[in-house]
Amino acid sequence: MTVSCDIKSVWTDFVQLVEKKCSATEFHNWIEPIKIKEETEDKLVLEVPNIFVQEYLIDNYKQDLLNFFSCTSIEELPFHFSIAAITPKEKKSSTSISKPQKTSHLQLNRNYTFENFIEGPSNQFVKSAAVGVANRPGKSYNPLFIHGGVGLGKTHLLHGIGHSVLQKNKHAKIQSITTEAFINDLVDNLKNKSVDKMKRFYRNLDILLVDDIQFLQNRLNFEDEFCNTFESLINQHKQIVITSDKPPSQLKLSDRMIARMEWGLVANIGVPDLETKVAIIQHKAETKGIIIPDDVAFYIADHVFLNVRQIEGAINRLFAYCRLMGEQITQDVVEKTLSEIFEQQTSKKVTVESILKSVASAFEVRISEIKGDSRMKQIALARQVAMYLSKELISDSLQKIANSFGGKTHSTLLHSWKKVSNQLSTNEQLQRQIQMIKKNLS
Ligand code: ADP
Ligand code: MG
Repeated sequence: MTVSCDIKSVWTDFVQLVEKKCSATEFHNWIEPIKIKEETEDKLVLEVPNIFVQEYLIDNYKQDLLNFFSCTSIEELPFHFSIAAITPKEKKSSTSISKPQKTSHLQLNRNYTFENFIEGPSNQFVKSAAVGVANRPGKSYNPLFIHGGVGLGKTHLLHGIGHSVLQKNKHAKIQSITTEAFINDLVDNLKNKSVDKMKRFYRNLDILLVDDIQFLQNRLNFEDEFCNTFESLINQHKQIVITSDKPPSQLKLSDRMIARMEWGLVANIGVPDLETKVAIIQHKAETKGIIIPDDVAFYIADHVFLNVRQIEGAINRLFAYCRLMGEQITQDVVEKTLSEIFEQQTSKKVTVESILKSVASAFEVRISEIKGDSRMKQIALARQVAMYLSKELISDSLQKIANSFGGKTHSTLLHSWKKVSNQLSTNEQLQRQIQMIKKNLS
């Protein structure tokens, strides 16, 4: 790493960041137990209570660790892990670390509030739906289903609803849970023969917030229980909010489950446009008490384009560097510290041109035909798919994207996007084709 002057303080900074990012329980269970056992010139020996904690750290914070320690791969990180010897007294409690959380635990990340959520065209609609639900739980859209790619703020909005409801009514019975945790909970309660108790708990809630429902796919045994809980809450007009990486129709779940999820409002959260990214960067800087010049914020926003989590990774790394080196934030410093992140992305940057190329070859048509006006079936379909993918994968304005298609209008683009989106739910061949093209692009 370039700033090897003090690995320990970088680690401390990193732990502080994680504490802000995750829930108190998560921090307590997974991060707090990691202790610095030894410090050599270029390595830290980190003592972990068990291998799960080590894996958890690497799995969940890989990118942050790489950013903080300026490494490009896990192997380069300046750590050596050592597993703590178990004393007899600890034996009992150490097993609890891999156990699922208790049902009664409400876990909301305290930074994920509506106030901290920056709005822009890509998320305005879903944000106002979330506010609507928080103001009148069970009475507006039920369920509210939020879907979109990773790191775009789904969990943030979900927790925002929780905070907002609790602000208005601190006795509200809210459960915020990941789908994984729900399944773990169920397994645990099945083992302890306490499923009835769990059912009562869930069915007495005022609001159920479920994160990442896509993990329910292929878990047939659990889908039923989920569906029952779901129906019983909805029938009592209790609010349910669900997040997912795909819309309901594209999830591999039973028809019954998909129908339930489509009962209320399905809202998409997209990649923020440039102005919104700038606003997010400035907001994040402000909350850390740092002033970031406008031109620098624009420069970062223009280079980091995949999602908001990446923006955060970039500015944390930038701040850590400036703090350690006592330097001001200038474009030069940004280039120096973030060049790796930018480079990694450049190779992944999707453009209309790259989409046109991949789609043309998948559909065996010419790029010029896609850009043209022919209505021949195969060409028209290729055009629609290319437009769909461009809108999904590129954060430019619709008009700018449409222009790259031989000067089409933005309503043509939107129309194609809708058409393909609708077809995707029923047309498996199209799903496969699009998946393949996406794979080619990355
Ligand atoms: P997802 O659940 O969609 O993968 P998260 O909700 O975990 O994404 O968001 C990733 C990070 O980006 C979080 O730290 C979150 O606070 C931040 N974030 C996402 N969208 C916004 C936004 N519009 N304004 C401010 N922060 C955001
Ligand atoms: Mg999430």
